Amino acid sequence: MDIIIDIVNTRDPFEKEFHQAVTEVAKSVKPVLDKNPEYRHAGIVERMIEPERMIQFRIPWVDDRGIVRVNRGFRIQMNSAIGPYKGGLRFHPSVNLSIMKFLAFEQTFKNALTTLPIGGGKGGSDFDPKGKSDNEVMRFCQSFMSELFRHIGPDTDIPAGDIGVGAREIGYLFGMCKKLKNEFTSVLTGKSLNWGGSLIRPEATGYGAVFFAKEMLATRKESITGKVCLVSGSGNVAQYTVEKLNQMGAKVVVLSDTSGYIYDEKGIDEAKLQYVMYLKNVKRGRIKEYAQKYPESVYTARNAGSGHNPLWNHKADCAFPSATQNEINAKDAQNLINNGVYVVSEGANMPTTPEGVDIFLDNKILYAPGKAANAGGVAVSGLEMSQNAMKIKWPREEVETKLMAIMKSIHEACLSASQEYGTPGNYVNGANIAGFIKVADAMMDQGVV
Ligand code: NDP
Repeated sequence: MDIIIDIVNTRDPFEKEFHQAVTEVAKSVKPVLDKNPEYRHAGIVERMIEPERMIQFRIPWVDDRGIVRVNRGFRIQMNSAIGPYKGGLRFHPSVNLSIMKFLAFEQTFKNALTTLPIGGGKGGSDFDPKGKSDNEVMRFCQSFMSELFRHIGPDTDIPAGDIGVGAREIGYLFGMCKKLKNEFTSVLTGKSLNWGGSLIRPEATGYGAVFFAKEMLATRKESITGKVCLVSGSGNVAQYTVEKLNQMGAKVVVLSDTSGYIYDEKGIDEAKLQYVMYLKNVKRGRIKEYAQKYPESVYTARNAGSGHNPLWNHKADCAFPSATQNEINAKDAQNLINNGVYVVSEGANMPTTPEGVDIFLDNKILYAPGKAANAGGVAVSGLEMSQNAMKIKWPREEVETKLMAIMKSIHEACLSASQEYGTPGNYVNGANIAGFIKVADAMMDQGVV
């Protein structure tokens, strides 16, 4: 496996997030390659770590003061062995090639785990929607799509949302794409309900992460009811994680954003969650305002230089990191363990550093990596594509039941792969191995392409 890590280090020396994602998968799949030398002979891993296509482009747009701004756009078409490329678009100032490639790489295995016929991709821009007017966001989205539209399509590549890309951005992107292609096709998922969206798509990633935690707890004959939970972020994934946890009788005591976090010992109940949804989705405000509205809660501003995130330093049973990559380092992971947390279900992509992951695994807690735990979002995107293709709309209960069944089957696939390859209960190995085998077998069938 050192050869694979050498390849990425030499070829892309500055892509640290991509190295992190590749190193983890390479370690997990080593026993699979030892048992199946045909994968090595066919250069499967070497091909998997090189995107099939990378598109990088200029996005010029004019702000409200009439000043020309230029952002950078990306689409990584990583792997189409089992279906058209599929994965979200992220608009955030931190976006760069390394982050796009790590997300596209992870997405390939995640999509394979869903059992749906979808390949892996990811895209986005270093544009920051925060503080921009609706008109600025619209002009940016239109400029972004005026290049991207020629690379995507219902049988080629189907983007969706991610950080900074919610219902508003998907609407503007879809509108421009439809105009340029002169087609009303399922070329984006996460659409609004009245023009092709699926019920439960906004909820799917958060709900799915909770369903995955439920499955893990069931292996110890426990349930989620009564558990105290830490949820980071306050965007799409965090909001619906809190909603499902409340519905299942758990109590959530923290939420955060890039500026800081709130701790509410009484719990963020349904009414308080409605306020968070208004605050974040409509008012586009800061989580600090929660503590002003609910004085029983405490707000702590972020101190980036402190070396740890105090949000993970509270007594709890479960943690659902739902903000961004590498938000739990070794110190945070140890704090979680010291505070009694024994279930971690990752709503975000790669939120735990490798050192943090080792601490979870050494302590044998129930730990689900993002590529398994947050696959519910892309799974329901797949269901949105099916409904669009059949020109029908399934009721809410039907989609939620399908989502639950998919999360259960991902859990089973991870558990059985972890057992087969000698590390029972290690969901990191299980997810990497189960996803890898599905993609690798398809690549073997299709020859060297
Ligand atoms: P949103 O943009 O809706 O919310 C992101 C939240 O995380 C916001 O509260 C944001 O704070 C916070 N955040 C973002 N970047 C940072 C940072 N660098 N440090 C601290 N906080 C940060 O995004 P989503 O909820 O859609 O995505 C959250 C995570 O879930 C991401 O890792 C994404 O890749 C992953 N994911 C999302 C899926 C989906 O269906 N949406 C599917 C699968 C995974 P602020 O409000 O200040 O910006």
